[in-house]
Amino acid sequence: MQQLVPAIQGLEIPDVLDGRGHLATNPNGLQWPGRDPEALRGLVWHQALSWGSVEAVARYHTGANSHLYPGGVESIAYTWAIRRNGQIVLCNDFNKAVWSQGYAKRPGNENAEFVSVMYEGLFDGPHLDDPSAGQPTYLQMLAGLALWHVCKDIWQWHDDALYGHYLLGKPACPGAALETMVAAIRSNAPVPGYELTNVQGRQEALKALGYYTGAVDGLWGPESKGALMRFQSDHGLVADGVWGTATEAAVKTALRALSPVPAYDFTTVEGRQEALKALGYYTGVVDGLWGAQSKEALIRFQSEHALVADGIWGPQTEAAVLQALQARQA
Ligand SMILES: [Zn+2]
Repeated sequence: MQQLVPAIQGLEIPDVLDGRGHLATNPNGLQWPGRDPEALRGLVWHQALSWGSVEAVARYHTGANSHLYPGGVESIAYTWAIRRNGQIVLCNDFNKAVWSQGYAKRPGNENAEFVSVMYEGLFDGPHLDDPSAGQPTYLQMLAGLALWHVCKDIWQWHDDALYGHYLLGKPACPGAALETMVAAIRSNAPVPGYELTNVQGRQEALKALGYYTGAVDGLWGPESKGALMRFQSDHGLVADGVWGTATEAAVKTALRALSPVPAYDFTTVEGRQEALKALGYYTGVVDGLWGAQSKEALIRFQSEHALVADGIWGPQTEAAVLQALQARQA
């Protein structure tokens, strides 16, 4: 923090550079599928995994030796890049479904729902064995946070809409420092099933955690305050009975640990199959392949839960699956 403050004060992010039309492209490479920018539901952070510049990464992705596709892809596979000096580079139009989250085996046009950022550099972490690895710069991290907040405002996302590639199948990306930032930001996201902005919801949460035994009546009296103080002292917080940001973060973490539901990663086909299997709708193999059997299972679930039975995993279906899993645990 002591180093971050002067870095913030000295922050002069140069203008966002429009890399479209400047970075290398390949008219004969794999063309990106299209997508609806309104339907975007998350931002994924990556690292370059090399010390090459943004320009070099673009040449590599679009070149003959690209690991993404034989003969190269249309353009660099990220929506934005952030240079070592903190400059944000716009790399692609939002309506291009670039390879933003890699091969997570998500159903359908698997990159259609994410925008992505690549931090220039090769960053250290437990999953990378490379002596030349280093760290992102403070200016990069600040620019990344600024960009995240802008995206969050534009698309009206919660904090769990920020991902690191490690959450989507690549443990080494974007490295330990950025992974810590992603995890910290995500911990602020609402916990499904709990509304912590009102007294009733806070009583419910404290009850679920075993601290409050009174009635959930929406009245914050001595019993509620006592419960909160016990929670606070058990969690290394100042036991003042005041519901502040640190207390709320600790409550969220405790609630997440309580619920077995986050064990299902709904962003992957495997996670969706596992959830449908746990609920008794899918009886096939959890293989990450979204075939007819998976779709039929989802359609059965939807029709039994008063949803449009279209076999599509949308936000309403996901909320219903989550609720069904939680009800099962209760
Ligand atoms: Zn990555």
